[in-house]
Amino acid sequence: MEYEVKENARSRRVKLSVEIDGRVIVTVPSRKFLFLVPKFVADHEEWIELQRTKMQKIGPIVDLNGSAADFKKHKKIALEFLTKKVFEMNRLYNFSFTKISVRSSKGRWGSCSSDGALSFNYRLIKIPVELVEYVVAHEIAHLAEHNHGPRFWALVERAIPDYKKRRQALRKFIL
Ligand SMILES: [Zn+2]
Repeated sequence: MEYEVKENARSRRVKLSVEIDGRVIVTVPSRKFLFLVPKFVADHEEWIELQRTKMQKIGPIVDLNGSAADFKKHKKIALEFLTKKVFEMNRLYNFSFTKISVRSSKGRWGSCSSDGALSFNYRLIKIPVELVEYVVAHEIAHLAEHNHGPRFWALVERAIPDYKKRRQALRKFIL
């Protein structure tokens, strides 16, 4: 089995991870641990295969880098798609909002301002729609609850009963 080894001094032990594209990464605290790696990988082969199967279910790898030109090209379609999703999903909540916009800033899938403006990352058009729905429900819920407390999550759950699973899956897409 092929794998990559990375050194991370903050890591306390030998760690294994499977990336969304199926690559296996072994993290070691220092080079002293390298001799442990082949057996460690061999011992975890079954687990690695299981992770890879899960990744495949998430779907194909997408390029989330997106240049300024990419944003320009997809901005209109992204706004249309997300506006439709907001209206569709807000039927359940009926919360009022002031504006919907799309952005290309990295690191955030969406946001909701205190004056009720919803903003979404245009890269949402590149990931599976069930994850988009989670992000949309999340931001709509913020229209009523500007925090991540229990009442907020109860609102999200109304639209997305399996939101925990989707939230987890969304983490595989690094913005
Ligand atoms: Zn939030």
